[in-house]
Amino acid sequence: MVDSSTVFNLLRSHPKQTSLRFKSPVCLESRFSSTEHRNPVSNVTKLIAPRAPSYASVLQGLKELKPIQQIHAQIITSGLAQNIFLSNRLMNSYASCGLLNVAKQIFGRIQNKNLVSWTILISGFTKNERYFEAYEVFCDMIMSGFLPNVVTITSILSALANLGLIRVGRSLHCFLIRYGLGVNVFVETSLVLLYSKVGCMDVAWRLFDKMPDKNIVTWNALISGYSNKGFGDEVLQLFNLMQRNGFSPDFFTIVSLISGCSAIGSLQLGSVIHGCTIKTGFENDQIIKTALIDMYAKCRCVEHAYSLFDEMPVKDVVTWTLMLSSFSHVGYMNKAMQIFNEMIGVDEVALDSICLIGILSSCSRSGALQQGRRVHALMIKTGFEDDIFVGSALIGMYANCGNLESARKFFEGMKEKDIACWNAMIAGNGMNGCGDDAIDLLWKMQGKGLEPDESTLLCVLCACSHAGMVDQGLHIFHCMVRYWHILPNLQHYTCIVDLLGRAGRLDDAHLLINTMPLQPDAGVYGALLGACRVHGNIDLGLQISKKLFELDPNDAGYYVLLSNMYATVGNWEGVKMTRVSLRSKGLKKTPGFSSIEIDMEIFTFMAGDIDHPQYPEIHRILKIMINKIKEVGYVPDIKLVFQDVPYETKINILYHHSEKLAIAFGLMRTKPGTTIRITKNLRTCNDCHTATKFISKVFERPVVIKDVNRFHFFQDGACSCKDYW
Ligand SMILES: [Zn+2]
Ligand SMILES: [Zn+2]
Repeated sequence: MVDSSTVFNLLRSHPKQTSLRFKSPVCLESRFSSTEHRNPVSNVTKLIAPRAPSYASVLQGLKELKPIQQIHAQIITSGLAQNIFLSNRLMNSYASCGLLNVAKQIFGRIQNKNLVSWTILISGFTKNERYFEAYEVFCDMIMSGFLPNVVTITSILSALANLGLIRVGRSLHCFLIRYGLGVNVFVETSLVLLYSKVGCMDVAWRLFDKMPDKNIVTWNALISGYSNKGFGDEVLQLFNLMQRNGFSPDFFTIVSLISGCSAIGSLQLGSVIHGCTIKTGFENDQIIKTALIDMYAKCRCVEHAYSLFDEMPVKDVVTWTLMLSSFSHVGYMNKAMQIFNEMIGVDEVALDSICLIGILSSCSRSGALQQGRRVHALMIKTGFEDDIFVGSALIGMYANCGNLESARKFFEGMKEKDIACWNAMIAGNGMNGCGDDAIDLLWKMQGKGLEPDESTLLCVLCACSHAGMVDQGLHIFHCMVRYWHILPNLQHYTCIVDLLGRAGRLDDAHLLINTMPLQPDAGVYGALLGACRVHGNIDLGLQISKKLFELDPNDAGYYVLLSNMYATVGNWEGVKMTRVSLRSKGLKKTPGFSSIEIDMEIFTFMAGDIDHPQYPEIHRILKIMINKIKEVGYVPDIKLVFQDVPYETKINILYHHSEKLAIAFGLMRTKPGTTIRITKNLRTCNDCHTATKFISKVFERPVVIKDVNRFHFFQDGACSCKDYW
């Protein structure tokens, strides 16, 4: 095998005049007639074998294998096997049936191979998506002293595009220009494809723009390039331009359009494209349908996705996994579980690791421990227990559901562990407040000869932050480059700002941000703003908020944080101002919801969810719950209600926070003493935090709340976060 640089150099150093040989017509078919007739060898063969042209013309019309083989046999018996014209035709016929190995055998037996023979073989491999073999043949060709013509270059460029070999591709582009080979729509399209595939959209666009003729393949090449880069707007502009130029979309256009739309997540455009698939008759194609499901899911319109999924007559494991992940992403955990259960009931669908990872991360997200355990049992039954990818997802699931013991047990029993398993275990310890264990694991991992990567160190730093281990965290952070040759990235900095903030070292955190070598992002500033809120440092908080609004003006979360901060120090003017600017920007707070798993079923509560089917009963328990904790000192913190409403209404809003509804439901539906596990999609508020501390004491129930930041273990009137979160 020749390496690319040799090919590259050979292409560059060939004496220019040799190219004259290749100033030939472009189309493969026309090349046969023109060059072959000029070739003295084939003229001689023609004299002694007058039947050759008739075989050739018969072969040209054949698409089926059997007659091709018959003609092949006749050619051999008539002693025409060495006729290059016929050999090339035969190769072409076999290649178009996908029998590249036969074509290659014929090629091997040709004594006087010409450029056409090489080109047929290269183009055959490319058309059958055997790109690497196409490239190998191309290299052999160059080494044998042949220079490519436009047809050869067109074929090899597609292969190079798919292999990502941009350097060789570029040198061929130069070659085309240098030797002034007559370009045409095919070779220009291959170039657009090459640059699009490797993401050089500027070059691709310039080439495209200058092309006098374009075909549907050219348009598709450019559209799919923009689509792969996630440039949804460009995709749609091109699509409109393409239609204005009189081209109707084909299968490939539709696929690119759908993935472009998924990238920008616009439902409106999604519907237009869906309409387009119906108009063009592609709506029943399995690939298109799967892509549409994905698109609707990405646009967060899971109902549309489901109805498409539901009407599919045959579903494969990819489609099932896609559907369950889509439900899980929008928070419909029960639906995700339901899909999984349905899927394992279908015999024809073979479970795979991707699907298991999908369902496990769905369990993680919703804290569905019982369901997660069932998946573990299924893993054992189906032989996926030793799969390290599924294994690390399982560790993550147990840790995320607050069951660190099971995570540890599984981790220790694993026959083989890769870095992802160690990282999952370290992260699990961190999440559950076991900072020392996380650091121990880091040393143990190194003892086994595994070097930590960026994520390992991030998990360790987060663990230190969650456990309040400031000195250890800072030490590891400062040693990152020296010990492990890893430069801290923005996430590492965010973690350290959080760590310093938690310890009340706001000035140190601020100094770190001002002196860090990277441009701080919203995450880094957000961590400091959170710390300002906890420690009531309004001045710094305001300063940081300004930065945040510049960096990320559309995140309602920061406005809420700032408004909470004003509320904490009783600055009502500030609260009002923040709320006005939030409203004037048309931003909406993400609605908070909490979920709880009881008997393998997930129950989700929104704040103020009085339409819940079990509401009357929940309301009764809620009243008892509030009264009991009030007796031991709970005072509702109405500062946290920002609406301008009477006191009674404020109290009522506070009591109907989703965590409180979920806890009341848990008290109602589980046996005394059972741990109540709640998962909340946002940060849990001060009032719910205080109330839960009292609940854990009064009702003698351990309560675990996993909010967006961390785990809170409430037991006997205290929380594991020590009131910092
Ligand atoms: Zn609350
Ligand atoms: Zn807490």
